[in-house]
Amino acid sequence: MTKTRLLQIGDITDRMRDALSEHFDIDVLFDQDDRAVFLTKNGAEYPAILTNGHWGVPDDVAAATPNLKVVSSYGVGYDAIDADAYARRGVKVAHTPDVLNDEVADTFVMLWLAVSRSLIPSDRHARSGKWETEGNYPLTRTVQNRRVGILGLGRIGQTIADRCEAFGAEIHYHSRSKKDVAYTYHDTAKSCAEAVEVLVAITPGGPSTQHMVNAEVLQALGSDGLFFNVARGSVVDERALVKALQDGVIAGAGLDVFAEEPKIPDALKSMDNVVLTPHVASGTHETRQAMGDLAVGNLTQWLKDGTVKTPVPECRDL
Ligand code: NDP
Repeated sequence: MTKTRLLQIGDITDRMRDALSEHFDIDVLFDQDDRAVFLTKNGAEYPAILTNGHWGVPDDVAAATPNLKVVSSYGVGYDAIDADAYARRGVKVAHTPDVLNDEVADTFVMLWLAVSRSLIPSDRHARSGKWETEGNYPLTRTVQNRRVGILGLGRIGQTIADRCEAFGAEIHYHSRSKKDVAYTYHDTAKSCAEAVEVLVAITPGGPSTQHMVNAEVLQALGSDGLFFNVARGSVVDERALVKALQDGVIAGAGLDVFAEEPKIPDALKSMDNVVLTPHVASGTHETRQAMGDLAVGNLTQWLKDGTVKTPVPECRDL
């Protein structure tokens, strides 16, 4: 029996490959010697693409796949996929919402504690023997009873809020619409930043949130303020952030995402009041397995009845 052809963009796990191989003939885009020749020859043969939030569907692939019917993305953020254009063409785009909420929220908490309590420099103090030679490590700042601002009170934002409540936080938020929650709503990121001591970005990326956190917002957060980004690098003006940290406009930052990943500005690497992680917020075995199962499930369900389990909002009515 001929299997349906699937174009794979980016890495997948062995478990995903094994499950998909039962139903699909998989070609891996990045295994091809000459991508342009490969796409010209084969592009029209693919009804299905499996990709991730980082790669999305690159323009050359989109242009070379006129018979596409479904795109399954292994991740919740889909700013690298033109979902509006695909919805107009009747192509179903699916992603992996909800299954990573806890992990991303935990990553924020990990960064917040690490920055506030100076985890990395104090670990260095302990390992280097400075505790013996120079004495106790300086006092740090508590995460208890802080005013916390969440930019993007969606699935992950709400999960972050739940964790912040456990720390006695007063919660503020900014999103496009006001939610039915007891937290304080702000109709701009600046107003939210002005009201809080800790600001975390967890909106989608893309043009509508580009540089939502800029010099003005960081100024509003203030010199005791901490900024965290577990959303997308594009959400913050990275130059403005570096300058704000260098000039003491804000007190510190915890960053999982960057403007030009995997590049990270050198200036950030040398700052003791900054903690950096390489876009790993959902990166545990357990959560990646759940995401992988859902990304595969979207494709196998589509094969069975033409629908997907978790379409992106733009494609819900298809
Ligand atoms: P949701 O769609 O549930 O929530 C998104 C929130 O952002 C909503 O509150 C929405 O507001 C708000 N928002 C969207 N656009 C704007 C805008 N232009 N201005 C202000 N607020 C806006 O998404 P999730 O919580 O599931 O995921 C959020 C994002 O987190 C993903 O898109 C991804 O980019 C990022 N992410 C990062 C990971 C990492 O590894 N670092 C891992 C997983 C996700 P409203 O409700 O009013 O529409």
